[in-house]
Parts: sequence; structure tokens; C-alpha cells
Amino acid sequence: MRSISILGATGSIGASTLDLIRRNRGDWRVVALTANGKAAELAALAREFEVELAVVADEACLPALREALAGSGVEAAAGPKALCEAAARPADLTVAGIVGCAGLAPTMAAIEQGGIVALANKEALVSAGEVMTAAVAKHGATLLPVDSEHNAIFQCLQGNDVADVRWITLTASGGPFRDWDLAQLAAATPAQAVKHPNWDMGAKISVDSATMMNKGLELIEAFHLFPVGLDRLRIIVHPQSVVHSMVEYRDGSTLAQLGPSDMRVPIASCLAWPKRMDTPCNPLDLAAIGQLSFQAPDEQRFPATRLARQAAEAGGAAPAVLNAANEVAVAAFLAGQIAFTEISAKVATMLSRAIPAPPSTLDEVLAVDAETRARANEMMEHA
Ligand code: NAD
Ligand code: MG
Repeated sequence: MRSISILGATGSIGASTLDLIRRNRGDWRVVALTANGKAAELAALAREFEVELAVVADEACLPALREALAGSGVEAAAGPKALCEAAARPADLTVAGIVGCAGLAPTMAAIEQGGIVALANKEALVSAGEVMTAAVAKHGATLLPVDSEHNAIFQCLQGNDVADVRWITLTASGGPFRDWDLAQLAAATPAQAVKHPNWDMGAKISVDSATMMNKGLELIEAFHLFPVGLDRLRIIVHPQSVVHSMVEYRDGSTLAQLGPSDMRVPIASCLAWPKRMDTPCNPLDLAAIGQLSFQAPDEQRFPATRLARQAAEAGGAAPAVLNAANEVAVAAFLAGQIAFTEISAKVATMLSRAIPAPPSTLDEVLAVDAETRARANEMMEHA
């Protein structure tokens, strides 16, 4: 039996993870579950999985969590410190499934355990970059990528030498607006943006997929996970989301990982790593899919990938600024404050301003994040 904690248990990644655990209850002991709010939902999961500890980030939700857990024997806690304590509770594997830079400190606390961290929370790695990879090395932790593209690349690199890689190609669905022109994009609504054609995901990543910032964040994520250099990382649009990414080697061989658009596949590969486990996912029916197509990304309509590449090239605090500005802009778009095309425009403006000094500790990364949010929020108010 192995032990597991899930940060962001009430989200899309959390639900997919718990679905796999539920089907294999005898294999897992669930240590801690966390959520932002949603006390009743979290308490129900905590009871079902007989966890040790349930934590809500929002302190106002603690009374409701306590009440819902009364008599269950599950400990209840709240606040940012408690989130980190949950992540630091000994567990063989931690799923980092919080959305946004809010997941950075808990993810770092999990890394400091020196165990396995299955990382879905790409914003944390984008913001902290070298600070996180240094912590992984220092504490002897294993970072397994949950993100489907990075999980695919991770699988395609097995048994190979990274020095032999010619290209790593991240595939992108292109999102719900793949074929829209600029005028249509300017009028896109939040309801349209969160409706992804292939994947069922949280609101923030769905908007990121629509702007293609998701692929930009993933470019930076790949840069930190796979040491081949930015110039060897490419993006290709692949509307069917069947090929999850590819690695081309110097002899001309390209290895790809294919699968259904179901996050339970990459999550299962992390849970069972280095072995395999069963999933209930539909097998890949290529005859039914018929055709796989590919096209070059259009950075005129979707400038986010270019902005992300610029931030990665600049390094230092730039990726944390990119991420924080994007989080604020996406929230403003979802709240109806700014137009869809303004998301990338605002991020570009934030990147064009003075970038703070390169952060070298977790606190410094969090300070860059907080400062950028404050300045970006100010900009949204004047939008
Ligand atoms: P989601 O919105 O469905 O869930 C987010 C989870 O984080 C919830 O449990 C929520 O309660 C918690 N949370 C939100 N804000 C928080 C805060 N301030 N403090 C603490 N907890 C907070 O999001 P999701 O789609 O599950 O995505 C989670 C992460 O996984 C994101 O970084 C996303 O980019 C990444 N990811 C998701 C998918 C997917 O298919 N959903 C695929 C690849 C990567
Ligand atoms: Mg992805």
C-alpha cells in the first residue's frame, strides 16, 4: 500500500486522480486532501477516502469544514500555512493539482519531502523555474509531469539520452477558437472560451487553451523539465489531441505518445510509475478518428506563445511576471472586465515594463508574483 496526498482535490485533476484511487482503494492510503473553498465537497471526499487531514485555503470556510467533518476523526485546518503543512505530511506521492501560483508554496513543501510529486500545477513551475528544479535536486525528489504533453515527452524520453534529442514538439489542440479571425476573437465570451472541444478542464486552463497561453506556459514547463534548450522546443497545432507530444532524435526517429483525451491516462502513468496500471478510459480507436492533422501555430491571432518564449528567453523573473499577469488578465476576462484579445495584450504590456530582479528563493518568487498581481490589477481597473 502506498500513501498519497492530493492538493486541489476538488478540481478537475483532483477528481480524475480520486477516480483512479477509488477504483484501486486497496492500493492507496490517502493522507491529505486540500481545496480552496467547497468545504462540504472536500469533507465528503475526506470521509469517503478516510483521510488524515482536510485543508481549505479559505479560512472563512473552516467552520463549515469542521462541522461537516464532526465525528469523522478527520483533522480540519485552513489557511496558506495549513496547506503547506498538508503538503509536508509524509506521503509517498503528492499530486500538485492546485491551479495558479497559489499552488507554488504547497508544491515546494511536497518537494521538500523528497518523495514523488506528480505535477499538474504548471504555473508553479513556470513562476519558480530554477528555484523549484534546484529544490527537486537538493531534496532528491522525483517530479513526474501530469500535464499530458509533458507526460508524453517523459514517456518518449525513457531509455534515451537527452543529448540525442533534435526536437521536442508540444502538440496543441488550438482551443475552441482555432479557426476564428481577430474580429471574432475580440468578441469571444467567457462561456465560449471555457468550452474546450477535446478536454474537460477547470475554467482557468480552459481560457489559457483558448488564448494558447496554455501552450506558452507548457513551453516554459518543458524547458525546466527536459534540459534540451529552448531552441529545441517547438509547438504544433493538432486539433484531434490524439498525439500528446513527440520527441525527434538525431537519427531521424520520432517517438510520440498517443492516447484518448482523458487526463486519467497521464495521471495513471504517474500513479503507477515506473509501472503501469489499468484505467477505465476508452481505448484509442484510430479507425473511428480517421485522420490526424497538424498545422503551424498562428502567432498573429494567438500571440501568447510568442510572449511565453520571450519570457523564457529573458529568464529571471520574466516567466513569473508572465504567469502572474496572465492569471490576473484571465480572471478579469472571466469577470467580464476585459475582452478576450486583451488578455495577451495586458500580459505583453506587463512584460514590456521593468522586470524585477531574478528571484533566487521561494519568498522572492512569491514577492514577484504578488507585486505583478498588484500592478496588473491596477491596470485592469483602468481597462
Ligand atoms: P480546477 O479549477 O478544476 O481545480 C483547481 C483546484 O485548486 C481546486 O481543488 C481548487 O479548490 C484549488 N484551488 C484553487 N485556487 C486555490 C487557492 N488559491 N489556494 C488553494 N487551492 C486552490 O483546475 P484544474 O483544471 O484541475 O487544474 C489544476 C492544475 O492542473 C492547473 O495548474 C492546470 O493548468 C493543470 N492541468 C489541468 C489539466 C486538466 O485537464 N484539468 C490538464 C493539464 C494540466
Ligand atoms: Mg497540457
